[in-house]
Amino acid sequence: MSSVSTKPQTRLMLHRRRFATAFAVLLCALALIGPPLASAQDESPQPGLTIHVVQRGENLFRIGLRYGISVDDLARLNGILDVTNIQVGQRLLVPAAPGTAVEAAPPAESAPVEQAQVPEAPPQESAPAAEPETLTSLPDRVWHIVLPGETLFKIATAYGITVNELSSANSIGDPSLIYVGQQLLIPGIEPPQIAVELPANVVDVRIQPQVFVAGRTGMAVLATRAPANVSGSFVGQTLRGSTDDARMVHVVLFGIPINTGAGVYPLVIDIDDGSGPTSLTINAQVVDGQYYTEGITIPNDRLALLQGDVNDAEASLVSQIMATYTPVRMYDGPMTLPAAAAITSPFGSLRSYNSGVLQSLHTGTDFAGAPGTPIFAAGSGQVVFSGHLDVRGLATIIDHGWGIHTGYWHQTETYVQVGDTVSAGQVIGTVGSSGRVTGPHLHWELWVNGVPVDPMQWVQQTFLP
Ligand SMILES: [Zn+2]
Repeated sequence: MSSVSTKPQTRLMLHRRRFATAFAVLLCALALIGPPLASAQDESPQPGLTIHVVQRGENLFRIGLRYGISVDDLARLNGILDVTNIQVGQRLLVPAAPGTAVEAAPPAESAPVEQAQVPEAPPQESAPAAEPETLTSLPDRVWHIVLPGETLFKIATAYGITVNELSSANSIGDPSLIYVGQQLLIPGIEPPQIAVELPANVVDVRIQPQVFVAGRTGMAVLATRAPANVSGSFVGQTLRGSTDDARMVHVVLFGIPINTGAGVYPLVIDIDDGSGPTSLTINAQVVDGQYYTEGITIPNDRLALLQGDVNDAEASLVSQIMATYTPVRMYDGPMTLPAAAAITSPFGSLRSYNSGVLQSLHTGTDFAGAPGTPIFAAGSGQVVFSGHLDVRGLATIIDHGWGIHTGYWHQTETYVQVGDTVSAGQVIGTVGSSGRVTGPHLHWELWVNGVPVDPMQWVQQTFLP
């Protein structure tokens, strides 16, 4: 699997470490901001330290007790300003101690309940324990965070392993008892590695997640030594490097088309800092999204009606708007849910009518909602479409910058017009049943670089540098 030459071993170890960190960040069901990119000084290993992955129910005091470090020291070590603000899945540097797990193991018992928080108590000083595992000795591991609706079987299948292998790797006695947000160790998966040595003008690169899922979003973040222009390609898409600052840190965001077959694909990133173009290739693993197919049989006259939903002109208008690119980032964290309503149909389900006579892929997430239920802008941005469409009804599209757009279909009312700037959570309209629908609901889409992806991933994760 590895195509890495052996020479730059230490360097690659360090890079893999950052990949592991990036992966944990991605997998976190809560929104996290990625770790800062490496600077020259964190090239050196930090002996005596290891990483603790924050579990449900933990706080800094409890973690400090476990590793024999005060809350103050723990906060200082990790650059935490607000000691009450730590999140499940966050990685903390802690003193390595004999007998402690190198990475916190997922809880053996799993129940769909929140563990009780340990009450806050005054921090206690105790001496850090010695003789530790160092960062460089940590094994690479792949973790999966359980999402709503997932089962062990579904997760195991997605990674090409058996339920038994997954259960025993995680000491799960009863496979029916897993909970949303639980961290599962995926056994036997080799994280993808950089296929070529980093070009001299690249300080660091990380990808999120380590294993891409068809129908979801992928991201590469790289830091360059000098201001540069970054572009790239992946599964036939042309990619752009987006940047918040002086073109030193670059974010490459892309949607992995839902029909991408499982396999390893080259993610090529081109860097031009004026000293001659260079590029690097990451062998990126794509796994199937395990989307749901439902077979539906309906009368033929109804089928004819459904076929009327296929409006190519409208579809191409929408995909043209969704493929526009604004170099300024307007979103500033995870997306918020677009309605305070239950999800009735997830992204990615394939509806096959009358044994495949007509197939339709669900390219958004549906929310139930009585007519008049408020619709919220999922993130800050600018309205780039507001109007009536035959199939999608009264529709709004928001450009969030960096090639990210969200769409809101079937509204009763809209409160925004093209050109308006909206902030995350702002009410932009109300739920309805306009367009070709069977009943009132909000259909919500999110597109990345012109590709529709599962919007719920953006509610659970943060795609920031
Ligand atoms: Zn829908």
